Amino acid sequence: MLMKITEHIKKANGKTLFSFEIIPPKKGNSIQELYNNIEPLMQFKPPFVDVTTSREQYVYIDKGNGLLDRKITRMRPGTVGICAAIKHKYDVDTVPHVLCGGFSKEETEYLLVDCHYLGIDNVMALRGDAMSHQKYFEATNGGHQYAKQLVEQIQNLNCGKYLHDVLEADDKSDFCIGVAGYPEKHIEAPSLSSDLKRLKEKVDAGADYVVTQMFFDNAKYFEFVKAARAGGITVPIIPGIKPIAVKRHLQLLPQVFKIDLPEDLIAEVEKCDTNKKVRQVGVEWAVQQSKELMAAGVPVLHYYSMGKSDNVESIASQVF
Ligand code: FAD
Repeated sequence: MLMKITEHIKKANGKTLFSFEIIPPKKGNSIQELYNNIEPLMQFKPPFVDVTTSREQYVYIDKGNGLLDRKITRMRPGTVGICAAIKHKYDVDTVPHVLCGGFSKEETEYLLVDCHYLGIDNVMALRGDAMSHQKYFEATNGGHQYAKQLVEQIQNLNCGKYLHDVLEADDKSDFCIGVAGYPEKHIEAPSLSSDLKRLKEKVDAGADYVVTQMFFDNAKYFEFVKAARAGGITVPIIPGIKPIAVKRHLQLLPQVFKIDLPEDLIAEVEKCDTNKKVRQVGVEWAVQQSKELMAAGVPVLHYYSMGKSDNVESIASQVF
């Protein structure tokens, strides 16, 4: 039955659920490839699947006269459409990621109205990163600066309050709202405790649950949850797990996400002479992480599948 994420968690009654996150295909590619990747994961009965949203970017078109034209484009559009397609094909809840970056408040309202009409009642409210040419995140003209403001907009809609109130709403949305949390702190936050205060603000504004950034050392997650609880955050905190897949991740993941990798994991990856072996190490590490988190009673294990899902399938078959 299609439900809110928090209802899925309640219904599971302490049993850890399996979920995963997918990225829309680059435009010009068929959705079939996505289905082919999702299909093997459906045997683990995910109550929900997240679909990410990519920020817009600039492309440079050769005008043929030695000059370049700068145009804005979105390489991976279609998040809400993909959510609707997956929801109806697999009878599973889908969670579109809604960004502040790249959207005015009005555009966000239209997107949320689409979700409501499509019966998509769960959304992840995120700020988004800076665009590739920007050093820092800049709010889009008429958009939000922080995810908390996006949560407030969604909550307002849940109360029937549209941006430019001209109508009395008698059909209110009832979105369950997820937000991001960072066990090793967000890259821009001055400290973990200040980041946690910001997380509390998002929850106070109406967020119903938190999904964490990837981490490779479970101790970081356990400490984060402890600190969040001490700080008055009582909503479910879902761990996000990413299996290492290529050797390059050793540099890339710390650089992009400002996370630490445990020495044992680094040593195991460095021993590998092919990426096939790295992928296997990634699976083994994630299995070990998942089993420990499950034993600790986490509500959901949420996997970042990033394209090919064979590794998540292998992990899930050993854990669920
Ligand atoms: P916010 O909660 O707004 O926080 C951003 C920073 O601002 C933090 O450092 C916070 O401490 C600080 N801050 C918050 N409020 C204030 C304030 N009032 N004053 C000063 N500082 C403040 N990105 C995508 O582009 N697409 C996706 O689909 C996507 N999915 C994600 C899913 C998960 C589970 C996670 C963890 C991240 C995801 N991201 C995605 C990345 C996310 O957009 C970035 O990490 C982004 O930089 C921050 O987003 P946020 O929602 O955490 O922002």
